[in-house]
Amino acid sequence: MAILSKKIAQADQKNCVACGTCTKVCPREAIKVHQGCYAVVDSFKCVGCGMCATVCPANCINLIDREGAGKHEKEVV
Ligand code: SF4
Ligand code: SF4
Repeated sequence: MAILSKKIAQADQKNCVACGTCTKVCPREAIKVHQGCYAVVDSFKCVGCGMCATVCPANCINLIDREGAGKHEKEVV
C-alpha cells in the first residue's frame, strides 16, 4: 500500500496559463496540463514536494492538506 504525503499540490485553474513548466520539474509526473488548458494534479502520485509551486510563473499552485484535496479540481487518469 502506498504511503500518501500530508500535503498535496493544487493548481488554481483560473490563473494557470498552461505553460507546462510544472510538468517538467515534477519528480513523480503527477501534474499534467489538461487539454492544453490548465494543470491538474494526480493526487495518488503527488508527494507534496512543492517543486511545481516553486517554478510556476503564474504562482497559481498551492500546497494544501491532503484531506481536502480533489474537491475543487478534476482528476485526469
Ligand atoms: S508537489 Fe511535487 S510531486 Fe506534487 S505535483 Fe508538485 S512537483 Fe509533483
Ligand atoms: S507552471 Fe503554473 S501556469 Fe504553468 S502549467 Fe503549471 S500550474 Fe499552470
